Amino acid sequence: MRYVQIDTQSDPYSESQPSTDKQKDLSRLLVAELKALGIADAELDEQGYVYATIPATTDKKVPVICLCAHVDTSPDSSGKDVKPLLHKNYDGSAIILPDDTEVVITTENHPYLLERIGDDIITASGLTLLGADDKAGVAVIMDTAQYLMAHPEVVHGAIRILFTPDEEIGRGVNAVDMQKLNADFGYTLDGGQRGHLEGESFSADGVRVTLHGISAHPGYAKGKLVNAAKVAAAFLNALPQDSWSPETTSGHEGFVHPVHIEGGAEKTIIDFIIRDHITTKLAEYESRLEGIVKAAIAQFPGARYDFVVKEQYRNMKEILDQQPEVMNFAEKAYRAAGVEPRRISIRGGTDGSRLSFIGLPCPNIFTGEMGIHSKQEYVSVQDMEKATDICIHLAQIVAE
Ligand SMILES: [Zn+2]
Repeated sequence: MRYVQIDTQSDPYSESQPSTDKQKDLSRLLVAELKALGIADAELDEQGYVYATIPATTDKKVPVICLCAHVDTSPDSSGKDVKPLLHKNYDGSAIILPDDTEVVITTENHPYLLERIGDDIITASGLTLLGADDKAGVAVIMDTAQYLMAHPEVVHGAIRILFTPDEEIGRGVNAVDMQKLNADFGYTLDGGQRGHLEGESFSADGVRVTLHGISAHPGYAKGKLVNAAKVAAAFLNALPQDSWSPETTSGHEGFVHPVHIEGGAEKTIIDFIIRDHITTKLAEYESRLEGIVKAAIAQFPGARYDFVVKEQYRNMKEILDQQPEVMNFAEKAYRAAGVEPRRISIRGGTDGSRLSFIGLPCPNIFTGEMGIHSKQEYVSVQDMEKATDICIHLAQIVAE
């Protein structure tokens, strides 16, 4: 509840690293708290990353694991002056948030809450998001560190702690120093429901379609002007209406999603995100999309287009399948903590998706964060405690 009161919103339009300096306010506090626990090497670097080591309690050579969470909160909802509220022994009734009584958290909208009756639930007060995404993960890792530093009799190898900035704007691992991190594999603490274990994410590309028209003075444009804005309209209108989009797909279905458009008669730019769990499908989607552009262009003689694909991230399953022990250790740790693991695929990506491809296989463990990126965000204290339990078991299981 202390951590969420520090505004750490990231900013997709900023070019600085980290995108907002205020993220370091929390990171500095975390370093101070880690040092107070006896973790001497805790440091915050220029780029906004916190690195720290819970030292090994065994001389045996065991893999070094990394526990990772992000300090930033989503730009989708205000993260300023967050007032966390603790609802003890939640009874299943609607939670009306006091600072905006229109914001009501109910079991109808959030059926997972039915499973959490009797827990202590933390919410925001109605004007902001809570920031459990991912300060729940931060808290779980800090609590794990606190426990392990106080219990040297627990046998485990070195554990590297990594707190990243800018996950919410897709730049969470842009400036991470993998050499310095020096871990064999890792776990992000950034998942939702108790029991969920995420080892599969989307594979993701971005596509920029630039449509070029032919400009002319509108008074003398007959037979000359080709309007790129109208080409764009024809193109977008030709996309399937009942499939192939985020609003019409779920589960393992992928999509093609125009996220931004700008321009005018001479030139119009449309940015797409392309998503599927199967990486090879991205190229199929892209060639189908290019076919739709071509068909639209054909209706406007003289118009041209550019079609540029940029890789964003890849399904971490491709990496995790090569090292099945990383998921197996996690499953064992869940069971040791009395939680039945459920392998889940994310319709999105995490820091772990990208870390997996730069040398740190990294599935995602739940923290209880729910209703994320909204004023209805909430988290169960008992879910966070379970996640902490799991991290402590995980450290021992890997050492065994
Ligand atoms: Zn998150």
